[in-house]
Amino acid sequence: MIKIDKSTCTGCGACANICPRNAIEMIQVDKGFYYPEITEDKCVGCGLCDNVCHADADVSLHDSDDAFLFVNNSIETRKNSSSGGAFSVLANAFIEKGGYVVGAEFGMDFSIQHNIYNDKENVKRFQTSKYVQSNTSDVYKKTYDLLKNGERVLFSGTPCQVSGLITYLSRKNCSTENLLTVDFICHGVGSPAFWKDCLKYYSRNGKKQIVDVNFRGKPRAGKLQNLYIKYANGKRFFAPSTNLEIFYYHFLKNYILRESCYKCKYSALGRVSDITLADCFKFGEDTKHLNDGVGTSFLIMNTTKSMNYIEEFQQAGKIQKITKADYIQPNMQEATPKPSLYEEFWKSYENGFDSALRVSGYSNSKNSLKRKIAAIVYMLRLDSVVKKIKAAK
Ligand SMILES: Cc1cc2nc3c(=O)[nH]c(=O)nc-3n(C[C@H](O)[C@H](O)[C@H](O)COP(=O)(O)OP(=O)(O)OC[C@H]3O[C@@H](n4cnc5c(N)ncnc54)[C@H](O)[C@@H]3O)c2cc1C
Ligand code: SF4
Ligand code: SF4
Ligand code: SF4
Repeated sequence: MIKIDKSTCTGCGACANICPRNAIEMIQVDKGFYYPEITEDKCVGCGLCDNVCHADADVSLHDSDDAFLFVNNSIETRKNSSSGGAFSVLANAFIEKGGYVVGAEFGMDFSIQHNIYNDKENVKRFQTSKYVQSNTSDVYKKTYDLLKNGERVLFSGTPCQVSGLITYLSRKNCSTENLLTVDFICHGVGSPAFWKDCLKYYSRNGKKQIVDVNFRGKPRAGKLQNLYIKYANGKRFFAPSTNLEIFYYHFLKNYILRESCYKCKYSALGRVSDITLADCFKFGEDTKHLNDGVGTSFLIMNTTKSMNYIEEFQQAGKIQKITKADYIQPNMQEATPKPSLYEEFWKSYENGFDSALRVSGYSNSKNSLKRKIAAIVYMLRLDSVVKKIKAAK
């Protein structure tokens, strides 16, 4: 029976999916993150859970130089995607050939969960990043069943979820010929408990009903990562600044990530998936024509299999080969560092959300003033002027 190390368990759920006795349940404990809980009475000591766990095992990673920038021809698709709409190209390619797509979607209460669809309309639900840990529930089992029946599957998720799937399928001796895996350069996943409190905050404790949420609202060109909320009365909110918005402030200052993210072995140049997707925020002289302020994807084709999809990208938009070394991001080199006040932050969280916001500095007067200024700058559409002044400094 597996011994769970809370500092390295990524919550992938492979152990729960493989247990023949249904003795393992993924439950939300620490900070709302998913961890396996074992009912010992049901366990027969087969050891499969231990054997499937990728957390402390050696995993094989692919280090490829086949890196590209991509911009989808459809502006609509890019507006509804995080970056350049690369995921959509792959998803559509699978659906058009009768295949299935696995990804992360919002549930009715805006919690995040993995699901499987085989139609274009539903697959749109996977578009855009949700920066909170998703519940994989039984998607590994379902992926296995589909592959076993000869179906084609595109699986997308965090690198640790992809690793969980690959290990799961290898332990089940399942052929992966019809499987394509997609991960992304991963900063870490945010706490589901903290996200729930953010939703409560935005709904004014349930007084204003939220009907839509997007972490990658794109209110205008050049603004690529603004939390967007739509209310039942039709009112819409775009956070004026990414860094100062309550969820992103804590996500980007690293207060709300899972323990395993601070030690992540997938924060590396070598990748576990066939294709790695990422955002491209910086451009050189030879690539600046690919930046129109609506989003550009950075892709790494990690395996020979992935190169079969280059044609799909060529047909759907502009794709250009780049030198990977020029586009290295922090999470391709090392895991996100844990902030020094992390423990204090979560200790004070026990006394309530507001108390923790004081520790992180979110609610101090300097940040409150910064938020007021950001709101005025946004309203007067002065964002690009401020950006230019900052860049010139
Ligand atoms: C938690 C997280 C951290 C990230 N960190 C970085 C980073 O540090 N640097 C960087 O360049 N890019 C990062 N990304 C990836 C980036 O935000 C875009 O998802 C990526 O560029 C793909 O964009 P797209 O336009 O091609 O596709 P999109 O249409 O935006 O597709 C989104 C894809 O992400 C998957 N997904 C969404 N939310 C989750 C989730 N919670 N868990 C698992 N899978 C999910 C969907 O299934 C889908 O495959 C991160 C994404 C997430 C979810
Ligand atoms: S040892 Fe076997 S039966 Fe027991 S929890 Fe692990 S997988 Fe399930
Ligand atoms: S298989 Fe996944 S969920 Fe289970 S213990 Fe290992 S990392 Fe955690
Ligand atoms: S940072 Fe690592 S452990 Fe955390 S979600 Fe991403 S891949 Fe998983």
